[in-house]
Amino acid sequence: MDQKAFQHRVPGVRTLYDKVWDSHVVKSYGDGTDLIYIDRHLVHEISSPQSFSGLEMEERPLRRPRAHLAVADHAVPTLARAAPLPLGLARSQVNRLISNTRKHGVRYIPMNDRRHGIVHVIGPELGFTLPGSTLVCGDSHTSTHGAFGALALGIGASEVECVFTTQTLRLRRQKRMLVTVNGALKNGVTVKDVILALIAKIGVGGGAGFAIEFAGPAIAAMPMDNRMTLCNMTIEAGSRVGMIAPDEVTLDWVFGRPLAPQKADEAAARAAWRSLTTDPGAAFDHEVVLDASSIAPQVSWGTTPAETLPVTGTIPDPAMIADPVKRARMKNSLDYMGLKPGTRLSDVQIDRVFIGSCTNGRLADLRGAAKILAGRRVAPGVSAIVVPGSAQVRQAAEAEGLDRIFLDAGFEWRASGCSMCVAMNDDRLEPGERCASTSNRNFEGRQGLGGRTHLMSPEMAAAAALTGRLTDVRELM
Ligand code: SF4
Repeated sequence: MDQKAFQHRVPGVRTLYDKVWDSHVVKSYGDGTDLIYIDRHLVHEISSPQSFSGLEMEERPLRRPRAHLAVADHAVPTLARAAPLPLGLARSQVNRLISNTRKHGVRYIPMNDRRHGIVHVIGPELGFTLPGSTLVCGDSHTSTHGAFGALALGIGASEVECVFTTQTLRLRRQKRMLVTVNGALKNGVTVKDVILALIAKIGVGGGAGFAIEFAGPAIAAMPMDNRMTLCNMTIEAGSRVGMIAPDEVTLDWVFGRPLAPQKADEAAARAAWRSLTTDPGAAFDHEVVLDASSIAPQVSWGTTPAETLPVTGTIPDPAMIADPVKRARMKNSLDYMGLKPGTRLSDVQIDRVFIGSCTNGRLADLRGAAKILAGRRVAPGVSAIVVPGSAQVRQAAEAEGLDRIFLDAGFEWRASGCSMCVAMNDDRLEPGERCASTSNRNFEGRQGLGGRTHLMSPEMAAAAALTGRLTDVRELM
């Protein structure tokens, strides 16, 4: 792995990010910011109530109701879905989303609809996410949609209101970073290991101020599910935007979906989207190169995604860190996680397993975990759930018999939603519980007050479920 900073820019050639940005500029302010037209907006129950209230207080209408698509995902239960929601916060959040979307003519996907799921899973699944478009959502993992060559970013409540009323946002153009992943992934190593290794290398602030483009042979070889995992977690490196140039894999995935361009427009759309590549010679402000073949299965040990090591490693010792701020930070992480320096990661026992989220709740993820679990049983004392990212993923998995593999292994097979990625619903850790999780964030309390999260791939989470400890999945292959 090596890094280098580019000193110059070649005039007249553009990156993928610049092409999409330039094609959406409504007005330039001359100070590095532009007014950008927003093609599409995903709405959910947590980030939208304040913005809908703002509209009503100012008595302003939605500028383009059809440009928005709403779904409740964070608060919804993943059990007992047919029953009415019990009285409480989740019910009021979901009901408020229903009434707001009705009032303003926004498409809403109900909780028990066959198109339901996490915003970042259903956007692409329904063809709402398109190459070359601008797409926003009041959720930081909106970077996911950059896997299609869209300029997609998470926004705050005031920005959501601005998109509702004007369909534009004033944004600052970011610097460009190229992350090239050369070589091929070894057996047992997945895209989750690539992004965790990248974040461990550049840090949680390493991508701040940059729009990251991923390229290289290892990326080209990835199916769309994997590319979405990669772009999903760019926000964990501090970058709001992660993009991959659309190729034939992308285009074949998009067409045929209900909200994608239909047959008559397909040829023109394909031609336009094929031009969405970084021009040869276009310069980036920073470049990082990874060698896929040198990456081992990763697992986080601390309370940021950058506090990650190969599963073959040992818990680091704060006493070895010279910088007093970094030393104190590491000590805090270890205290919260209840871990002692020098412990082998593979000796750390776990209580819970969560396979799901907008990072790893897609069909490829479920297939990967099921391959490890087939014919085996979850270790005694370990509680394990698998939560498909959408109803369509659940249905497709059932059609392949994956549900049976999970159930036979001792997993619970749940309905779609954010579930244990975030402690905003019934699925959460108890204080002190330790979880092998395929989600994207491991800060204190993310999965429940006092809960301890270890981030990893679905294959690694399946391996941990079988042994009851953090485990190198390669030992079970
Ligand atoms: S799965 Fe997690 S990260 Fe993704 S949208 Fe839901 S809460 Fe956010």
